[in-house]
Amino acid sequence: MNPTDTTLTELRDAIAVKAVSAAEATRAYLDRIQAHDNGDAGLHAYHEVFADRAIQRAEAVDRGEVTGPLAGVPIAIKDLLCTDYGYTTCSSKMLENFRAPYTATAVKKLEDAGAVILGKTNMDEFAMGSSTENSAFVTTRNPWDTDRVPGGSSGGSAAAMSADLCAASIGTDTGGSIRQPAALCGVVGMKPTYGRISRYGLIAFASSLDQVGPFTRTVADTALLLKVMMGHDPLDSTSANVEVPEDIDRVDEAPGNMRIGIAKEYLSDSNDPSVAAATQKAIEVYKDFGAEIVEVDLPHTEYGIPVYYIVATAEASSNLARYDGVHYGHRTDKAADLIDLYCRSRAEGFGDEVKRRIMLGTYALSSGYYDAYYNRALKVRRLIKNDFDAAFEKCDAILCPTTTAPAFKIGELADDPLAMYMNDVYTVNCNLAGNAGISLPGGTATVDGKELPVGVQLLGPSFDESRLLKIARVFEAATDHHTRRPGV
Ligand code: GLN
Repeated sequence: MNPTDTTLTELRDAIAVKAVSAAEATRAYLDRIQAHDNGDAGLHAYHEVFADRAIQRAEAVDRGEVTGPLAGVPIAIKDLLCTDYGYTTCSSKMLENFRAPYTATAVKKLEDAGAVILGKTNMDEFAMGSSTENSAFVTTRNPWDTDRVPGGSSGGSAAAMSADLCAASIGTDTGGSIRQPAALCGVVGMKPTYGRISRYGLIAFASSLDQVGPFTRTVADTALLLKVMMGHDPLDSTSANVEVPEDIDRVDEAPGNMRIGIAKEYLSDSNDPSVAAATQKAIEVYKDFGAEIVEVDLPHTEYGIPVYYIVATAEASSNLARYDGVHYGHRTDKAADLIDLYCRSRAEGFGDEVKRRIMLGTYALSSGYYDAYYNRALKVRRLIKNDFDAAFEKCDAILCPTTTAPAFKIGELADDPLAMYMNDVYTVNCNLAGNAGISLPGGTATVDGKELPVGVQLLGPSFDESRLLKIARVFEAATDHHTRRPGV
């Protein structure tokens, strides 16, 4: 078998029966990274690769010293999950030299299950962005068309998965940062329910929204990774104490009677025709399968982006206050006094988008504006959640686009923050409400002579990822979109 052209589950099984060794598989991925990720024409999905450590871990698997449901499979990690080896930078100058003293729970669970961590992936600085252009280091390229963005903020993880530079990768989703890049890179990407996967060791952007999740080739692979990473963690006070359903990885089981919800608020005329067509075809797939298609209303959808950009920036301004050059992060060498040291360290360490968010968030929380902006945003957030609760009374999952269009060109939206923010119009509400969402490969569109992936999204109620995955699997089993590769 070719260990870099297979699903995570197949690779895991091949390693278990010694059809391929974990060391061979790891070397094969390292070779692909070497060939495709670096240099002028490289994808730049990775910020750091742990070649020696990965091979040592793989050899330990081959000797039978490391076992578990992920024994020997090479996985890439977004560079905001702490590891007590290598660097954890958040793609920021602020943390360029940061070595975390401990490993995030989500990563530790992967390692305890036998995974081989290949490296850390590039991202938008502090997870703020939709294109990875906000990385302080380099812009990741979309493997389908290297003139285009992979999406963001987990763009490095999405590109690495799409180009088979890992068997699976891990990202985080605060407003869409797993599902949007998954759609733009043609892979499966899932945000579980808020609180499902521990945030311990995840460098915070917006704590009431951040959630860890996987990128994979298939729904079954996503389920396997969720089974490993989910669960209550006493080290994270927001971690949900809800049992992980034991059937979560049995995605091929019949989902029973399905009611698929369609919300007109997500079917705007301004969607790219390729997106509208992919959603329509997905509706047909479920109809053919015998699902009941029901209309649902999500009347507060249009307030999602404004509410998100108040709540997320408010929380970010608070979370990022600790990077002052004394407690944490880059310290200037030009300070005249303490206040000057704070100011210069932050001015030098943060990029433009992070500064913009800190200013927006500080403003929304400031006295006199708190009630008008932050408090009001929290109230509307509740209305958005109520919309979803009412919709899930009528349906088991909501089917909608993940993004309004396929991947845009590098630089195309870089000077237009509002247009960039609109990338998340179909993803942020799920974060505000806290429920689960998954983006699936939904087909391709030909743009400028190149094939580009288009995603379809399924949103499900909180804490029922099992059912959502089975419903997602129905679509995957009826289509071959997930088998298309970018040809890297
Ligand atoms: N693109 C959104 C933002 O810039 C979402 C980011 C995320 O989910 N981390 O905030």
